[in-house]
Amino acid sequence: MSSYVFSPPPQAALEIQGSSELFPVRRIWCVGRNYLEHIKEMGQDEREPPFFFSKQPDMIVSDGATVPYPSQTKDLQHEVELVVAIKGKGYYVPEDKALSLVWGYGVGIDLTRRDLQIGMRNLKRPWEAGKSFDYSAPCGAIAPVSKVGHPAKGRISLRCNGEIRQDGDLEQQIWNVPEIISKLSELVALEPGDIIMTGTPAGVTACGVGDKLACSIEGIGTLNVTIGEPLK
Ligand code: MN
Repeated sequence: MSSYVFSPPPQAALEIQGSSELFPVRRIWCVGRNYLEHIKEMGQDEREPPFFFSKQPDMIVSDGATVPYPSQTKDLQHEVELVVAIKGKGYYVPEDKALSLVWGYGVGIDLTRRDLQIGMRNLKRPWEAGKSFDYSAPCGAIAPVSKVGHPAKGRISLRCNGEIRQDGDLEQQIWNVPEIISKLSELVALEPGDIIMTGTPAGVTACGVGDKLACSIEGIGTLNVTIGEPLK
């Protein structure tokens, strides 16, 4: 058996509520434009079907951590999102089987360099510069389905320094969790360890150094991060 030329990177993982075990992360998928009011605030066509982009597992930031303000942006924005943690394999999963693939749910933030994202969008280039960067995927501890079931409604909110910025409900999602899993599984085969950020409600705004972001999804959990000084 061959050895590696250097030590392999550590396995990315999420904490689990009420457990010392970890949920190992394979891939991070994100859904674009899944709440009507957010689509309107971004000036987009509300009838567009959902689409997916990705972040890398090593971009995960755990609950309570500090996120260094990222490079090359003057418009870092928060997007609080329901996170779906996948435990099963699935390729062309029918909607009525989709929830059987879910291990649990969590609260995440799809941090976005909005100026870079919109710049790339206007040039019809990929979004990675705006969406996929170091520390861009804060994610709280996962609540297992055995404890929280499959919540289809519940308040989803984000406060910045105590002030409410995003305030929606899961039932406002245009594409629900079974539909998202089914659609995504037509593009790629899902595997245990995949996680999906399922889009954000309205109220995305810029945040800066020192800001404290406090996120909550009713019936699932919370996530708190602080924006810190840029890395040198
Ligand atoms: Mn998002």
